[in-house]
Amino acid sequence: MPAQIIDGKAIASKLKLQIRQEVEQLKARGVQPGLAAVLVGDNPASVIYVRNKRKVCDEVGIYSEEHRLPGQTKQEDLIHLIESLNSNSKINGILIQLPLPKQINADRVLNAVSQAKDVDGLHPYNIGMLTMGTPQFVPCTPAGVIAMLDEYKIQIEGQRAVIVGRSNLVGRPLSLLLMHRHATITVCHSRTKEIGAVCREGDILVAAMGKPKFITAEMVKEGAVVIDVGINRLETGQLVGDVDFEPVSKKAGWITPVPGGVGPMTVVMLMYNTLQSAKLSVKVV
Ligand code: NAP
Repeated sequence: MPAQIIDGKAIASKLKLQIRQEVEQLKARGVQPGLAAVLVGDNPASVIYVRNKRKVCDEVGIYSEEHRLPGQTKQEDLIHLIESLNSNSKINGILIQLPLPKQINADRVLNAVSQAKDVDGLHPYNIGMLTMGTPQFVPCTPAGVIAMLDEYKIQIEGQRAVIVGRSNLVGRPLSLLLMHRHATITVCHSRTKEIGAVCREGDILVAAMGKPKFITAEMVKEGAVVIDVGINRLETGQLVGDVDFEPVSKKAGWITPVPGGVGPMTVVMLMYNTLQSAKLSVKVV
């Protein structure tokens, strides 16, 4: 039997409606959540991501503004902008679109974002809180993956979860979230030996590496839940994930498509975190 599709687009639409309602309630109290997106340079993918995030802000009623700086911007000028956004009461969330140009130290910049407005959950304080199991803001993509599993009532507790990729943005925080939910975790990376055999042990297998169609059917356990975080553009222009969808979907029990899987969830979780930040700022939660 082919795998059941985990429809990220549909879950995201449902969550957007809920967020919109909560934003309306806040607005009725005179508070409109606000998100500032900071983009340095003109990386085409980053430009599209920021445009898309602002479009979803409009859909849910969140105020958004974009700060676009030239690619040769100095680190101190970027940090100066972040400091002004930190003290801007219209702004509840600050999104630094990654990657940043080479002359800029991304860690320093992310550290400059107020931990109270760090809606991407990448500030060391928020990573620390997540590590301790008491997160304030959870990074959006891992939060989206958990929300998808929960929506379909897919069991996490006691399951063996294998994550391919250990980035600060996806693999590492997702491993913590799944561990907090009582899965047993294995994290693979570029130096993992016998990666196919390791992946085959996963009741839940998450691909977050950025290698098109890397995960083949032979690497997947029969009936596994396969979550494809990867977004790769082929030379043909086609968008594909890190999972070889057709053959894997014949073997998996559940699978996320690309596009229409994790991607829409990531943007919605950014809206969710911005709303939470606004609520915290007026002590509604
Ligand atoms: P990243 O920072 O480049 O990290 C990639 C990870 O994959 C690293 O840990 C790397 O291992 C590992 N890796 C690379 N090649 C491997 C191989 N052959 N075997 C095993 N592990 C390998 O990437 P990222 O930011 O986490 O993003 C991963 C993918 O997710 C990308 O396609 C990105 O576009 C996509 N993404 C999607 C969303 C979404 O909303 N759907 C959000 C964020 C990212 P090492 O640590 O050893 O180098």
